[in-house]
Amino acid sequence: MGAELIDRVAGAGAAAWSALAAAPFIGSFLGVLVRRLPEGRSLAWERSRCEHCGSALAARDLVPFVSWLAARGRCRFCGQPLGWFYPGIELAALGVALVAVAVDGGEETWLDCLLGWWLLALGWIDLRRWLLPDVLTLPLVVAGLLAAAILDPEQLIDRLLGAALGYLGFRLIASVYRALRGREGLGQGDAKLLAASGAWVGASALPQVILGAAVSALLAAGCLRLAGMRLAAHSALPFGPFLALATWLIWVFGPFLMMM
Ligand SMILES: [Zn+2]
Repeated sequence: MGAELIDRVAGAGAAAWSALAAAPFIGSFLGVLVRRLPEGRSLAWERSRCEHCGSALAARDLVPFVSWLAARGRCRFCGQPLGWFYPGIELAALGVALVAVAVDGGEETWLDCLLGWWLLALGWIDLRRWLLPDVLTLPLVVAGLLAAAILDPEQLIDRLLGAALGYLGFRLIASVYRALRGREGLGQGDAKLLAASGAWVGASALPQVILGAAVSALLAAGCLRLAGMRLAAHSALPFGPFLALATWLIWVFGPFLMMM
């Protein structure tokens, strides 16, 4: 697997190399997006100031990975630890590009990456804020249908159906949940994210997205419990990150079960 990955990366074309080169910088931008979008702050590319001491940051403080490593993870001015957030999201964005190149490597690499980075931002915002902003979910529905219309016209019906069933199906599950448990468990944002998911993977793969997301959410809850965190029945994990992960894996690798 490792050697194969190195072969694929070494033999990759311009699309693959440009995606790999851009990934850390896009990760850096996603970090700004994840922090600022839910607060309605400006999305200007640069992180202009240290969040602790307010010192203005120069270009050399903003190079992905390098600045963080050079300063040993601390602000150059006040010495406060910078935390793992930015290197973490930059690494995750690079991971998306590496998987896309290893699996695809061709012209679709950039499409795989764009979907992956978009979902990465959505999942991360949901993890931090329990929020899936419409300004990210709704354009993703449109983008999925456009990609189908341009690249895969014979799939367009399945993808349109996927978007509609994703939204309606999730609303149905949410209302059953509300009727049974007497409280809201699943949000409107999740329904829109599942519509976006359907617009990308199509109606036929949608049940696997839901299954994959549910299984990975249960695994994550199990790991947190093993790590000593108590998750009561009323405290849940946000579902968005798991939907995002399952959607992207099925988009890149294809449906993992032939029959569902
Ligand atoms: Zn500082």
